[in-house]
Amino acid sequence: MINLILFGPPGSGKGTQALKLVKKFKLVHISTGDLFRFNLKNNTPLGLEAKKYIDKGALVPDKVTINMLKAKVLENPKVKGFIFDGFPRTKKQASALDRFLKGMDSEVTKLIMLDVPDDELVRRLKERGKTSGRADDKSKKIILNRLATYKEETIPVFDHYIKKGKSIKVWGVGDLEMIYKRLCLEIKEAK
Ligand code: AMP
Repeated sequence: MINLILFGPPGSGKGTQALKLVKKFKLVHISTGDLFRFNLKNNTPLGLEAKKYIDKGALVPDKVTINMLKAKVLENPKVKGFIFDGFPRTKKQASALDRFLKGMDSEVTKLIMLDVPDDELVRRLKERGKTSGRADDKSKKIILNRLATYKEETIPVFDHYIKKGKSIKVWGVGDLEMIYKRLCLEIKEAK
């Protein structure tokens, strides 16, 4: 199994690139942000719980997120592997993922961070807010909160996998196709 973590701050292009990569490498895309938004749209209890946090630009509690992620993985048996997008976002989530994959005789293959400077992220998120319909892309205050949350709670995940020799960075600014090619090279190397 190939288990890739597509990592990076909000607005770094994870979702866009993940969609292209899953097609090429025949992997299953799991975006915890998309799963939460699906639940929000359908007014499920999980969606209502998550909304409290998403609206502030904070993280949904680990337990809820981890259980949702595990359920989604188990819905997809016998696949070549996964691209995790927006997960893990805390050290606790990373350890839970490691244990979970170990139980399936597997492990994280590689974590690839899309490296994008802050001013570019704010510009992209504000631009996205005009069309995405996402409340959390519309307010500068929420955007800045998401970036602060990323630095405080999520960067440690990069360090967690550095220690295992699995974290790398890819420059995430410029032409979409160029960034895609850089990612493809890293994935081919990991396989
Ligand atoms: P995203 O689409 O990945 O930017 O996620 C949107 C929002 O969903 C985030 O700001 C969080 O509130 C929530 N979320 C998504 N993934 C996670 C996660 N792995 N852990 C906690 N909260 C998450």
